[in-house]
Amino acid sequence: MPRKLVLMVVDGMTPAAFERATESGRTPALSFLASHGEYRQATSVFPSLTPVCLTSIATGAGPGVHHVPSLVWWNRQERRIVEYGSSFPAIRAAGLTQSLLDTIINMNARHLSQDAVTIYEALDDAGLVAGAVNITCYRGRHRYPPIVPGLHRAAHGPRRFFFYGLFESDRSGARFSVRNRSAVDEYAAAVGRWLVTRDGFDFLAYYLSGYDYASHEGGPEGAEAEHALEQVDAAIGALFEAAGGPEEFLERYAVVLLSDHGQTAVERAVRLQEPFADLVDEVVVAASNRAGQVYLLPDAHVDAAELARRLDGFAAVELTARREGDEVVARLDGADVPVDKLDHPDAAWRLRSALANPNAGELLVSAAEGWELTDLGGRHHVGGGSHGSLAAGDSLVPVLTLGVRADIRGITDVAPAVLEHFGVPAPSSMEVQAGVGR
Ligand SMILES: [Zn+2]
Repeated sequence: MPRKLVLMVVDGMTPAAFERATESGRTPALSFLASHGEYRQATSVFPSLTPVCLTSIATGAGPGVHHVPSLVWWNRQERRIVEYGSSFPAIRAAGLTQSLLDTIINMNARHLSQDAVTIYEALDDAGLVAGAVNITCYRGRHRYPPIVPGLHRAAHGPRRFFFYGLFESDRSGARFSVRNRSAVDEYAAAVGRWLVTRDGFDFLAYYLSGYDYASHEGGPEGAEAEHALEQVDAAIGALFEAAGGPEEFLERYAVVLLSDHGQTAVERAVRLQEPFADLVDEVVVAASNRAGQVYLLPDAHVDAAELARRLDGFAAVELTARREGDEVVARLDGADVPVDKLDHPDAAWRLRSALANPNAGELLVSAAEGWELTDLGGRHHVGGGSHGSLAAGDSLVPVLTLGVRADIRGITDVAPAVLEHFGVPAPSSMEVQAGVGR
């Protein structure tokens, strides 16, 4: 029987931040893992925004297969914006109750394609016990009624399932609180400690979100992010303690540690709606952080190529991508470019997979260096950090593997590698990759 496995996902941690921390000795748990593991960098998906990335990690497939397109998008069937939480003003603008329902329930129950198989479903079907703590892609085979008043929908999660105190498979005694950002990861740590103490899983997805908030606030090189990495370290150290020490932890568990996307510094922000202001009846613009999507409404008189040309010379946008027949065409510096010619990490596959998603806009927008596209509530992170674009800084993530034989080059390689570790065949949805091989 292979060793049990813990997948640790640190939201927004850049390779540079990880390397700095493990070399400085400020983060003993991360340093211990780094000194015992195999390190490399891997590429995220496009857009490099958390709901898309975490769903790609948990399904082993790009957005062309799992269908979660962005942090904010236009739902063509329901003719409305879906907003998963760009900022509080953004979710208020999209409708508070609807946004919470979309984020907590619908992302997994309705937006995530039934054709994609999650790692929890695949492991459960093979008779293994899968667990998930706080990760936003959680779909599994077990039904959980809500445990807080006011939430009326059940969720389907893995056998061990803990989601921000809203759904819990077991009474762990961990108390969820929103009194500050770090309290969310303290909840994850308390649950993780409980699970490791009981050895209560074969596979655990352990998701820590606090680092990303801090990096947005003060930028990827800022003091907030450095401090947040120490809190990440404490949350990983809590698992070691529960096992009786770091060595004992590694005797029991294999580890894959990675982040979902990077972050880059933001100096300026602009509304992506501006260049399309005269087309309000023909297009919907959905933008947040460093990515955007432009959707053509059914009676639009313009096409995607025209939308792309409108962004020529718009400083906030580095490139766009659209479909032209069977081809995917990028536009950069006022000229159309085949996606295979782009230098951005894994650009061709990422853009093809993003555009193969039926929930994607006709035009995908990747922001220029230093720029952010304001969200529905007008919010941005100028003076801090952000991500979402195709550029390397937003897209490259650190990956550490211990006790797992895996060649993880993209974040979609994680789920098939974990299944292979357990000797479980990967479902076809993890192989297909939107009909586009890497
Ligand atoms: Zn973020």
